[in-house]
Amino acid sequence: MRPDQRPKAARPGGKRPVAGGGGHVARKRFGQNFLVDLGVIDEIVRAIDPRPGQALVEIGPGLGALTNPVVERSEHLTVVELDRDLAARLRQRPELTVIESDVLKVDFGQLARDGGQKLRVIGNLPYNISSPILFHLLPWADQVEDQHFMLQKEVVDRMVATPGHKDYSRLSVMLQWRYDMECVVDVPPESFDPPPKVNSAVVRMVPLASPPEVDLLAFEKMVAVAFSQRRKILRHTLGAWITQHGIDTDFDLQRRAEEVPVAEYLALARLA
Ligand code: SAM
Repeated sequence: MRPDQRPKAARPGGKRPVAGGGGHVARKRFGQNFLVDLGVIDEIVRAIDPRPGQALVEIGPGLGALTNPVVERSEHLTVVELDRDLAARLRQRPELTVIESDVLKVDFGQLARDGGQKLRVIGNLPYNISSPILFHLLPWADQVEDQHFMLQKEVVDRMVATPGHKDYSRLSVMLQWRYDMECVVDVPPESFDPPPKVNSAVVRMVPLASPPEVDLLAFEKMVAVAFSQRRKILRHTLGAWITQHGIDTDFDLQRRAEEVPVAEYLALARLA
């Protein structure tokens, strides 16, 4: 038999159907890592504590690992899924309202208005776009009851980090301004099929009832400038921004971005 006629051996890590996925092959470009550990799924659902009558929205339901136990308790669930094949399967189920779309195009304000109540948003997020999803939801925080998201553990560490900690970053400042956040479940790679290369964690995000007022866009721009060179003292970054905006302030520019509390960033942004 000529070498090109021999049957090809399965490549390790090659395409194969997901365990219990009815023949579905995970699509890397959609960040598909499906939860398969029943113990972990149960822990997450208990942390969410879904109830009938609540306006629950799941981002990326996939094969239903969270969807099924959640909708069993809540009786109805709205799901947002980009993968056309998975969305088609989900549409077979009358207890689900399926939005086949890129979540970054979904108007969550409209969803809350349609439901006549605040949303409870959940999801094992596609890790390749997890920060854009968090920023997409930020302007609708006043129409959200809470959010429970599975993310890379490293991202959750940055979300909850306090000033002076190496993980304190732009993400910490932008989200702590608006949410109370805590890590509620740690999840190892082997809880997924296919397993991701990183550790994961579930974060609970509860919007603050009376967040300090600030122009979100101006705040976002200022924080991005501050963290643009996080190893340098702020004179080199925020110093120029303060001059540009003609702000008169005694803000201490001898510090690095990672040393400044959220409240001080907010106070500075309000002067712009
Ligand atoms: N919830 C399932 C689970 O826990 O097994 C799947 C989670 S998987 C990490 C991410 C899911 O988000 C996939 O179903 C994927 O198709 C979907 N997804 C990826 N990008 C998306 C996007 N931009 N908008 C909506 N859904 C997306």
